[in-house]
Amino acid sequence: MARNSSGTADQTPVGIIGAGPAGLMLSHLLHLQGIDSIVLELRSREYVEKRVRAGVLEQGSVDLLNATGVGDRMKRQGLVHEGIKLRFSGEEHRIDFRKLAGRSITVYGQQEVVKDLIARRLSDGGDIRFEAQAVAVGDISGQPTIRYRQAGDHRELRCRVVAGCDGSHRVAASSMLDDSFQVYERQWPFGWLGILARTPPATDELIYAHHERGFALHSMRTPEISRLYLQVPADETMDHWPADRIWDELRIRLNEPKLKPGEILEQGITPMRSVVTEPMQRGNLFLAGDAAHIVPPTGAKGMNLALNDVNILAEGLVEYFRSGARDKLDTYSERCLRRVWRAEHFSAWMTGLLHRDPAGDPFEYKLRLSYLRYVTTSTAAATTLAENYVGFDPGPTPLA
Ligand SMILES: Cc1cc2nc3c(=O)[nH]c(=O)nc-3n(C[C@H](O)[C@H](O)[C@H](O)COP(=O)(O)OP(=O)(O)OC[C@H]3O[C@@H](n4cnc5c(N)ncnc54)[C@H](O)[C@@H]3O)c2cc1C
Repeated sequence: MARNSSGTADQTPVGIIGAGPAGLMLSHLLHLQGIDSIVLELRSREYVEKRVRAGVLEQGSVDLLNATGVGDRMKRQGLVHEGIKLRFSGEEHRIDFRKLAGRSITVYGQQEVVKDLIARRLSDGGDIRFEAQAVAVGDISGQPTIRYRQAGDHRELRCRVVAGCDGSHRVAASSMLDDSFQVYERQWPFGWLGILARTPPATDELIYAHHERGFALHSMRTPEISRLYLQVPADETMDHWPADRIWDELRIRLNEPKLKPGEILEQGITPMRSVVTEPMQRGNLFLAGDAAHIVPPTGAKGMNLALNDVNILAEGLVEYFRSGARDKLDTYSERCLRRVWRAEHFSAWMTGLLHRDPAGDPFEYKLRLSYLRYVTTSTAAATTLAENYVGFDPGPTPLA
């Protein structure tokens, strides 16, 4: 058996694999209820705090961060948006979230959420082990163990429960999946080339642009930093995209003359996938966030789903550790999946609506334009978009 340096296996009630939004928030929620956990994270603290990804928080996520005492910086620096703009065929239409759905969204980088959670966990005495790679989870129907590598050593963590919050790497999932599970999956024939750039946003709200050359998105992180995306083929590499080409293409697709090129701080291409694992649990192993499901980023749902999952999981764990009752734990997957599938549908719908289908014919293209016009002129259709974007199901009340 693998041991730590003192020759004994470490123990914790809850072993958490992954220090993304899901793993960190779960550890924080449990701490607030007096339950210890240990978080194992493959990467360094610096790496996870700089990893640029999501940036849109639904109101339910904002409420969770505020209610659990980690929302102060978000309240000061987050940008509250009451709508988005849709551009196509030289037209611009605004989807007014406040008017149509009664709620707003907050633009605040995922890496900022991660920084806030790490700072709080560490100041609360939390145990986050960076550069610790989980390699397998064993005995998930009894007292599970996580085998992991850290600083060249093979170690083991004994737990009563393991939360697999390891994103799309799926070490935790692969420890439980067999023929009794269903993994629903769709590969999209394109990806997103994303840049983070030092240039003031040319817009006060996100612009989603449908263009015959492909989709583009203008988002932002601060009044000085913009986040911009281009649809590219699924197998594209950055070698074909020097900075000039990126800026030219953004200007054409976004139809935004105010957008000024700036220093590119970060760039990369993300393939687009839809994945759902059902159920999200087995025995004492529970998957949360991207470890259980992936959405294409068009609907801005990934981080929000991750936070929602762990809020539900924490509720079940608190009941279990306080009374031994497993009712809420045993229905964890069922309670998450309803919302997950709504988000999967919305994300696939937005993706299909806004992207150019590489295999599509001119008829298909015209149908898409007609649908975009419908969505932007029918109050019922615009409301569908608005209420799903801000979060159709407000989710459970924050635990803390
Ligand atoms: C380009 C892009 C844009 C996006 N935009 C949005 C958006 O606007 N809004 C939104 O809500 N979502 C968005 N998403 C999705 C969002 O980023 C993810 O859904 C979110 O990161 C999920 O959080 P998580 O904690 O489940 O997983 P992750 O953030 O992936 O965290 C998993 C963690 O586990 C660690 N890990 C992996 N394997 C191991 C191992 N073996 N041992 C230990 N640790 C391990 C990883 O290093 C990582 O830190 C976007 C994603 C991308 C790629």
